[in-house]
Amino acid sequence: MISLNDKFVNMKETNCKHCTSPFFGRSNQIYCSITCKAQTNNAIAAQRKKATRPGEVQLRVNHLVLDRLYREYRNQSIDKRLLHLMGFEAEFFTGIKRNESKNLYLIFDFGYFLDTNDTIKIVKDA
Ligand SMILES: [Zn+2]
Repeated sequence: MISLNDKFVNMKETNCKHCTSPFFGRSNQIYCSITCKAQTNNAIAAQRKKATRPGEVQLRVNHLVLDRLYREYRNQSIDKRLLHLMGFEAEFFTGIKRNESKNLYLIFDFGYFLDTNDTIKIVKDA
């Protein structure tokens, strides 16, 4: 038989991890209510969703790389390996402009095209 004492031995007063209200509950209980637990889990899920849109994150990285390289090299030929080392991933772009023989790959306001097999050139305000 469980005595009243046994039942309460593992209970304590603590503050809710979500709303910070004090509550009395099991020693391992961290939320005062199902609502607070759900709100926390929803916030975590939203945060995770935000952080795992790989395309968007990679586009921002690609844009940053083109921006930095353009500031330094303007429209000179740039070795593709340098872009790769900086985190650039060629499969992420926002559009393609085709002119004459070249494809201009767009990443927001920047564009780039293959200059040789190993090099590219960057265009700003593409
Ligand atoms: Zn709470």
